[in-house]
Amino acid sequence: MKKKQFKAESKKLLDMMINSIYTNREIFLRELISNASDALDKLYYKSLTDSKLNIKKEDLEIRIELDKEARTITIRDNGIGMTEEELENNLGTIAKSGSELFKENNESAKDMQIIGQFGVGFYSAFMVSKNVKVISKSIDSDKAYVWESTGADGFSIEENERKENGTEIILYLKENAEEENYDEFLENYTIERLIKKYSDYISYPIIMQEEKTEKDKDDKETTTIEDKILNSRIPIWKKDKKEVKEEEYQDFYTDKFYDYEKPLRTFRSVVEGKCSFTSLLFIPSHAPYDYYTKEYEKGLQLYSKGVLIMDKCSDLLPDYFSFVKGLVDSEDISLNISRETLQENHQIEAIAKGIESKIKKELETILKEDREQYEAFFKNFGNQLKYGIYTSYGMKKDDLQDLLLYTSSKEKKLVTLKEYVENMTEKQESIYYACGETTDKIDLLPQVETVKEKGFEVLYLTDYMDEFVFKVMQEYDGKKFMNVSNEAMDLDSEEEKEALKKANEDNKKLFEKMQEFLNNSVSSIQFTHRLKNHPVCLTSKGDISVEMEKVMNAMPTDQKVKANVIMEINENHEISKKLEDLFKKKDFDSIEKYTKILYAQARLIEGLSLENPTEITNLICEELSK
Ligand code: ADP
Repeated sequence: MKKKQFKAESKKLLDMMINSIYTNREIFLRELISNASDALDKLYYKSLTDSKLNIKKEDLEIRIELDKEARTITIRDNGIGMTEEELENNLGTIAKSGSELFKENNESAKDMQIIGQFGVGFYSAFMVSKNVKVISKSIDSDKAYVWESTGADGFSIEENERKENGTEIILYLKENAEEENYDEFLENYTIERLIKKYSDYISYPIIMQEEKTEKDKDDKETTTIEDKILNSRIPIWKKDKKEVKEEEYQDFYTDKFYDYEKPLRTFRSVVEGKCSFTSLLFIPSHAPYDYYTKEYEKGLQLYSKGVLIMDKCSDLLPDYFSFVKGLVDSEDISLNISRETLQENHQIEAIAKGIESKIKKELETILKEDREQYEAFFKNFGNQLKYGIYTSYGMKKDDLQDLLLYTSSKEKKLVTLKEYVENMTEKQESIYYACGETTDKIDLLPQVETVKEKGFEVLYLTDYMDEFVFKVMQEYDGKKFMNVSNEAMDLDSEEEKEALKKANEDNKKLFEKMQEFLNNSVSSIQFTHRLKNHPVCLTSKGDISVEMEKVMNAMPTDQKVKANVIMEINENHEISKKLEDLFKKKDFDSIEKYTKILYAQARLIEGLSLENPTEITNLICEELSK
């Protein structure tokens, strides 16, 4: 018989399973039961759209059989089954999410823990078995097949005589060894305990046969064999809230939503109304590995009276809450809803509205009651909220603006816009912000220094999207957003303004000359009072800031934008007197050099590159050698 080999990634995981020293071996049962339950779901769902299939929900079941002599555990379902191809592909390769995880984490002992929590699926069978047989007949095929493997040396597939659709998994337990007793899995009570612990919520009956001995009145013993249902079949989201421990939700989450870390937050609610539903939602504690890729699919599981009808119903979640995982169960949703009819479905629409407001409320609660947790959340998913405001052209502003956090110049802590506005001084009319690569770099910007000096708080925007979001929002609580690098930013008194205006008029000719030397790289040059110790800075006039120009021009489109850049020279700095003197002496040669060096300085401070670095370094050296 020809042996086929496992895919490389699968082989690694398999080897770990076989040689596992993992103490949590018992999870194999949960994994196999969960697969069986999925297979029943699939069949039931298929029968709703395929009238040829005559499937009754009450006939669907999972059976467990223990054979102490042969030392086998058999898990049987009458679900959708697998074709020959499916046996080869599904059991020859570990689940995609699993293999991705595996690539990220190498095979150290610590990762075993992660893998254990994550749920390794079918391969966990090898933690307790020396040999595994899978006999399966797909509902779509006339033939049944048996897949068999001892793990290490690959697997084989042969035809089998099974007649009914479904899958039977036979585990041949490993030999007992010192401190390793596999026989315990052959005891009814162990299996019962494990089903209660891990699989109680499975909606199909998990049946095991039990011997019952009864004595009649003559003291004669009769033994009968009876079916016993081991699980309560009440889904976790339908159980009395008081009876479910936080841990159970966490296990449910890691198991169902393929995460190896417990969720940051779990929230469950019941909504009665036009469309009643129960929801169990989770905020992950970290972004999934594919969250920022095209592959990531948002959505919630959709159940109708406890039956899973869709795994990722994307219509239930707005994009800005795409990180939320969980499920919705509604009695009002028809079972044979299809993806096409979904969009026009008013019930779905109503549920989606309800879900959106639940999530929003939950986030508000975390923000109010557990700042640390909220900041952890925001670090992972805050951008998604900003993105929501931006892509809705501000329509979602009222819903989302109070959930945003920005680093403030005071104490370098994260603040909400509400907190910022509450801290505003009386004479302050706008919300001041500055942009840059990191908060440390922004903190050193000359324009920022002066605003801070005057006692104002500045918001530090470090994400490329931040300023665009402020532009879309325009204002918060009636206060406009103002970039401290905008030319219109003005903290001077009336007299100071007058004096500056005069100085600028007096030196008009000087500035024109300087602009010529810069080949009109800036739209104008002027004196300023916005700088404290620094000689020079760049500001912009109008809607596009220097930072926005950077971001937009980095995008892969042909449309390039240009900020209307002004070079501002500190009127209170020595250099301004020097320039005036040189102009009086008509020493244009020196003015040219100084202008170029000043402009280069201003660009460097803004984090912009120089077009002519050699020329500038030579100029500086020349001045130094004088
Ligand atoms: P996962 O369940 O995470 O996809 P598994 O390794 O547990 O990963 O299973 C791999 C695949 O094998 C499943 O996705 C399913 O398609 C198939 N499978 C496993 N068990 C059964 C079963 N009892 N009936 C039908 N298909 C099954």
